[in-house]
Amino acid sequence: MMDRIKEVDAAVKAAKAAFPEWSGFSQEQRSQVLNKLADLIEANLEEFVRAESKDQGKTIAFAQAVDIPRSAFNFRFFASASRHHTTECSQMDHVGCLNFTVRCPVGVAGLISPWNLPLYLLTWKIAPALAAGNTVVAKPSEMTSVTAWMMCKLMNQAGVPPGVVNIVFGTGPKAGDALVGHPDVPLVSFTGSTATAQRITERAAPYCKKLSLELGGKNPAIVFADADLDQCIPTTVRSSFSNQGEICLCTSRIYVERKIYPEFLDKFVAAAKKWKAGDPCDSSNSMGALISKEHLDKVRGFVALAKSEGGVVHCGEGLDKLDLPEKNKCGYFMPATVITGVCDSSRVMQEEIFGPVVCVSPFDTEEEALTKGNGVRFGLAAAVWSRDVGKVHRVARQLQAGIVWTNCWLVRDLNLPFGGMKSSGIGREGAKDSYYFFTEVKSVTIKH
Ligand code: NAD
Repeated sequence: MMDRIKEVDAAVKAAKAAFPEWSGFSQEQRSQVLNKLADLIEANLEEFVRAESKDQGKTIAFAQAVDIPRSAFNFRFFASASRHHTTECSQMDHVGCLNFTVRCPVGVAGLISPWNLPLYLLTWKIAPALAAGNTVVAKPSEMTSVTAWMMCKLMNQAGVPPGVVNIVFGTGPKAGDALVGHPDVPLVSFTGSTATAQRITERAAPYCKKLSLELGGKNPAIVFADADLDQCIPTTVRSSFSNQGEICLCTSRIYVERKIYPEFLDKFVAAAKKWKAGDPCDSSNSMGALISKEHLDKVRGFVALAKSEGGVVHCGEGLDKLDLPEKNKCGYFMPATVITGVCDSSRVMQEEIFGPVVCVSPFDTEEEALTKGNGVRFGLAAAVWSRDVGKVHRVARQLQAGIVWTNCWLVRDLNLPFGGMKSSGIGREGAKDSYYFFTEVKSVTIKH
């Protein structure tokens, strides 16, 4: 096999050579290609769904409802959004000047994605990069690269010219590092852990590369006493355990106003117990397997740490036995786990666990809820549950998070900015934000 670093270099060369042609296409032509790619993913949906589930461990149902439809939609969305951007203009009549901005694609975009939503997150980067006229070298996670490879096979049929999309396969320290450190890759969009982002930032610094970093979270849900628990409980179970808790936006800390804390906990634990882990192909299961043995050990380690610090496990790990069919007995499954009694400074409450584990804790005042919610180094997403509009506005504004959901979770309008504050990232992506990231802006002044 070709050495990974040489392979990355060859991919960058191909992308660089293809850039003049692709960036010279009209917006309409590029959109047509992206829409065709969406059509082809949809035409092969079942095959993609099965592959994503088998590769990542997620349920077929989740891949079918979320991963693959959204991957196709990413292409459709940016095919359309990119046709509606305008640039700015200002007049300086007193000196006879007109100022305006122009935007140009940057060149070869380096795109790196993680294993939890493999094709979904890769296409979230490829689509806007291509729509803006860049060519790309993309590296999916080495843990889950099957659907990226399947998509490569559709490129010709979609009319993507050779060299415009290059997918490189390999580990982060080899292929990823070679891509980030390549002098001909002027911008890098990365989704993954905060620790890797630090290495990428250092690696990119000597070249002054443009970086977009979408990183980890430790997302709070704040439940006030006037919340509609009939909506809040099922949604918060879903936000805590969807995709085995392996979504950067999953709820990891739930703060509940003390007045309703016992009622909330009873109902929440009862609902979590019904959120079954098991055979990913069985539609009665809500969770499949975790990504790897190492990750399962890490997630279980957090539960053990919580117990050693006096935390109480109410359901899940160590309490509820999994009823797995023979073929899944050696898989990395873990039941939905709810913990209380962990102090705010514990690593369990401070670090991203990224598995089916959530901690519940009471609060007395709005101020205390905010202090607790903001008391971590991350700032990706948060949820607020209350029927009091004023309270919802106050709390949403003060929460340090790139996205705040009130009385709902994971409702996404791709037009709006997506990204995190603090250690959860730098930059935003979304219709306009992605366009800004994947283009360079220039101010032009014309005197008549
Ligand atoms: P990771 O950081 O280990 O890996 C992500 C990608 O980076 C992989 O493709 C990996 O090969 C590559 N990589 C690793 N080391 C590299 C290096 N030195 N140089 C260049 N590339 C390198 O993350 P992961 O474990 O795959 O994914 C889980 C993490 O991703 C969690 O922290 C999760 O919160 C985060 N995440 C964030 C978002 C978001 O939108 N904010 C979305 C999904 C996942």
